[in-house]
Amino acid sequence: MDISYILNHLGETREQYAHAVVPPIWQTSIFAHPDVQSMREAMSDEYAHHVYTRGNNPTVAILRKKLAALEQAEEALVFGSGAAAMAAAVLALVKQGDHVIVVDKPYSWTRKLAGEVLAKFGVAASFIDGRDLGNFVEARTDATRLIILESPNSLTFEQQDLAAVAKFAAAHGIKTIVDNSYATPLGQTPLAQGIDIVVHSGTKYLNGHSDVVMGAVCACEALCREIFYGPYMTLGAILPPHDAWLAIRGLRTLVVRMERIANTTRKILAFLGQHPKIKRLYHPALDQNAGQALKIVNGLLSFELDADIAGIERFCDALRRFLLSISWGGHESLVFPVAGVRDWRGREHEASVPLNLVRLAIGLEEADVLIEDLDQALRQI
Ligand SMILES: *Cc1c(COP(=O)(O)O)cnc(C)c1O
Repeated sequence: MDISYILNHLGETREQYAHAVVPPIWQTSIFAHPDVQSMREAMSDEYAHHVYTRGNNPTVAILRKKLAALEQAEEALVFGSGAAAMAAAVLALVKQGDHVIVVDKPYSWTRKLAGEVLAKFGVAASFIDGRDLGNFVEARTDATRLIILESPNSLTFEQQDLAAVAKFAAAHGIKTIVDNSYATPLGQTPLAQGIDIVVHSGTKYLNGHSDVVMGAVCACEALCREIFYGPYMTLGAILPPHDAWLAIRGLRTLVVRMERIANTTRKILAFLGQHPKIKRLYHPALDQNAGQALKIVNGLLSFELDADIAGIERFCDALRRFLLSISWGGHESLVFPVAGVRDWRGREHEASVPLNLVRLAIGLEEADVLIEDLDQALRQI
């Protein structure tokens, strides 16, 4: 299935709603049944029927079909956030006494989930450097049930060899999850490499407009059903129909947004790469030792500034076109200094990344406008 068919048509049964080009927002909590027998049938398998919007909703279903197809998955579930999607996938797959292996620099709330929430329920976690397959082999125990990957992560972009980890895991009956928010399905499709579950923060590139918080799980039908009848329905962290409709609209332009971002990012990497105030530049396209090459150039990059904290503050405060914010993946360019997370004085040892690290998220603005802005701000250091 080609990508434009997925983005423009898949899942859209227009004959059912007056051939409207844009689908309706099915803003309803419940669905009625024509008779008792139909009600019984619907309730016997809520995964496959319209009963209640915490389970199924037609607007949400369109988004699920598109995301599943993009990830070459049989099915997908969507959630009210990426964190909810990750938590649902993980909680569905582990039980007391189990052990999970996690890459050592995952998204902050994935770390909290694996390191603290799971611990409360008797599930142990080992955090390892995922760049070396040997570390997975070493960390595995007879209790290991799950490996949680993030390739690349969204700050320093370490990657894992997904096919190799998937093969190792399958040989030991271990399930694998990859957070694919950074790469998007345009950059890599982990299920095709043997990974069991792809998790997304759709808040980022998939929706792409900084106006929806959402998540997704893409997997085979059996796993989607397991998650649906477990954490999905019990925690109820659903994506409301209106947000699903916005996400469908955001997704329409995924390819053009990512192409524009790639072109701009190449120019920005070239500019920063030769700038004397940039000590080290981080981006997957620059990483010769990366586990695997992504098929697209993404607009998230980091650098170590040749500056103290005061200099970093002057640089960030001087930027006019980059908004100072967390997150990424929207239409607008952002700057995120690690030094801005908290007052690090006396707590420097707690930092797992260099404190002079600054992340940029490249948006849809013109490259020369962004470069000019960076140039003037770098002079303020
Ligand atoms: C933002 C993010 C998440 C969490 O997603 P939310 O939609 O904010 O809950 C998970 N993983 C990565 C890599 C992220 O960037």
